[in-house]
Amino acid sequence: MTPVIALVGRPNVGKSTLFNRLTRSRDALVADFPGLTRDRKYGNGRLGDKPFTVIDTGGISGDEEGIDAAMAEQSLAAIDEADIVLFLVDARAGLNVADEAIANHLRVNQKKTWLVVNKTDGLEEHSAMADFWQLGLGGDPWPIAAAHGRNVSRLIEEVLSPFPEQPEEEAVPERDDGIRIGVIGRPNVGKSTLVNRLLGEERVVVFDEAGTTRDAIEIPFERRGRPYVLVDTAGIRRRKNVREIAEKFSIIKTLEAIKECHVAVMVLDARSGLVEQDLHLLDYVLSSGRALVLAVNKWDGLESEQKDKMRAEIKRRLGFADYADLHFISALHGTGVGDLYPSIERAFASSTTRWSTNRLTTILQDAVGEHQPPLVRGRRIKLRMAHQGGANPPIIVVHGNQTASLPEAYKRYLTNTFRKVLKVRGTPIRFEFRSGH
Ligand code: GDP
Ligand code: GDP
Repeated sequence: MTPVIALVGRPNVGKSTLFNRLTRSRDALVADFPGLTRDRKYGNGRLGDKPFTVIDTGGISGDEEGIDAAMAEQSLAAIDEADIVLFLVDARAGLNVADEAIANHLRVNQKKTWLVVNKTDGLEEHSAMADFWQLGLGGDPWPIAAAHGRNVSRLIEEVLSPFPEQPEEEAVPERDDGIRIGVIGRPNVGKSTLVNRLLGEERVVVFDEAGTTRDAIEIPFERRGRPYVLVDTAGIRRRKNVREIAEKFSIIKTLEAIKECHVAVMVLDARSGLVEQDLHLLDYVLSSGRALVLAVNKWDGLESEQKDKMRAEIKRRLGFADYADLHFISALHGTGVGDLYPSIERAFASSTTRWSTNRLTTILQDAVGEHQPPLVRGRRIKLRMAHQGGANPPIIVVHGNQTASLPEAYKRYLTNTFRKVLKVRGTPIRFEFRSGH
């Protein structure tokens, strides 16, 4: 399990700056829960052989009332998902009543908390820190300058020292116990219902909720003699009330499931249409490189105008994920659910296939023969050879001259050509271009 670090502090102390430094922020997942003024962000980082997840909890000022207090509550809830809390304060602004209020919140929490004094650049360290000792949050305050990276690696190294190393694994996952399927999606789209369907109703009773807040539950099962593992984020236990519906959705579980699965089945809700959170999640899956199948759920009983509207919306807004098979299903009635399996199998196969250099180079040369790359400063861009640089997702490395000048449109042309000829479905393909002399 990857350790989770929550960044807490009043606005403007430098949480996003630190978040961006710790994560490849391209991969950040934004959780835009209704009612939050500022998005909560989730991202992954790595220091040496230690991976971690960071949550930027968004704004808490510590003196909220009414609706603001409810929002702060939401942000503080993120702390429940974390193993470690970094409480940021601002060395330039000095100690503030809001800091004290947040410290009081944190003191009741059992989480390991580090007091981090940011913006110490250009300040005399000891006097910059003097103020903050009185917050009395256990250990010594840590001086950093997030904007310049000063002391940040040392802090994270220290923070992660109790956690084991997890060297980066071989990109191609083993398949011995079957394809690992992650069912993901925002709350209420029908994940639990779909998981129940995929497993067959009678098996479900057997499984007990693991009782942890974060673990994605793994359920091995068989279908037509083939083994699979379901990585469940929704919790298959039957829910009793609305409160539970809100609680069972966990972004951390979702991130774990995406990391742990071979193929993500992303569930969308035809009744509520597409919302920002769907796009954020999808964006995240895309940048994670996971194989993907899209399931538009609750297709039962819709008027044909509603269906047309949803189809149009998908076409307009999900163009960036058009590599994935799209299914219209009813998890409730089981309609279309069985058809997900061939797509899952194909997505898995596509993401893990190996192609010979010969084959890839032939496809490249045919593509170039069909459409020459453009001239750059009077010289034609040359593309000579292609080989596979990795799998899951497939990486195709193209060698040539002046490849840095290759236009986006031409890259898209190559992507589409390789995708079509290799019959790749359900996985992104990444291209790398290298220039010789
Ligand atoms: P957040 O609201 O807590 O997420 O704070 P931001 O990350 O948006 O930072 C607030 C302001 O502080 C920005 O103008 C940053 O450039 C600035 N800032 C962040 N870290 C540092 C630092 O280490 N040194 C200095 N001098 N400024 C910083
Ligand atoms: P989750 O939060 O994503 O796990 O969603 P649930 O599986 O708990 O489903 C949320 C609600 O949508 C429940 O009331 C389900 O009965 C309903 N639901 C799920 N799938 C379907 C479907 O295919 N059609 C219809 N009409 N309702 C569905």
